[in-house]
Amino acid sequence: MSTQEPFSIEQFYKLLSQNKLMAGKCLKCGKSHLPPRPLCDNCYGTQFGWVQILNEGKLLTYTVIHIAPTQFQGLTPYTIGILQLADGLQLPGVIQDVPIEQLKIGMTLKVDFSTCGTSQNWPQWPRYCLKPYEELCSV
Ligand SMILES: [Zn+2]
Repeated sequence: MSTQEPFSIEQFYKLLSQNKLMAGKCLKCGKSHLPPRPLCDNCYGTQFGWVQILNEGKLLTYTVIHIAPTQFQGLTPYTIGILQLADGLQLPGVIQDVPIEQLKIGMTLKVDFSTCGTSQNWPQWPRYCLKPYEELCSV
């Protein structure tokens, strides 16, 4: 990939649409940023390289959303979790295919790039969701 690609959220989403979870790694201090940003918040460096991040991690925390913004109302209740990825990175996302009573802090989830059960435009989340790493027994 060209290193000329901008280190922006738009580019991050574009890469996600190609099934690639990519972070911007600061060439000066080595800190990775997810999503990538044009300015390192650690050393104020502006030179970055793209690194691909393994699309699985451990669930750090989650929140069940009962009252959602208008465009998400058809989805409630839904769950938003934060995944701890490699390289100290964290990624928030909507958790799918895990019954709320089976959610556990520390469980392994993967970042799934397929479409996520809604045709709505996601104003904040790109088209990925967090799904169980292994198939859960059907409930
Ligand atoms: Zn830096």
